[in-house]
Amino acid sequence: MTLPAVNTTGMSAECALARRPGYEDLHDECTQTEDVPLPHSFGILLVRRCTCGCHR
Ligand SMILES: [Zn+2]
Ligand SMILES: [Zn+2]
Repeated sequence: MTLPAVNTTGMSAECALARRPGYEDLHDECTQTEDVPLPHSFGILLVRRCTCGCHR
């Protein structure tokens, strides 16, 4: 089975997998949502934003 070439760079593992037919529910499992401004934002936010279209 050949999947369409999809650039999943920046996407969480959950959303990357969710692009496959039958795994759509995994979008709900993604924890890499939009960046949230922290009150003390001088630190590094370790949670990388997932670039999956389901978050937009
Ligand atoms: Zn997603
Ligand atoms: Zn995601």
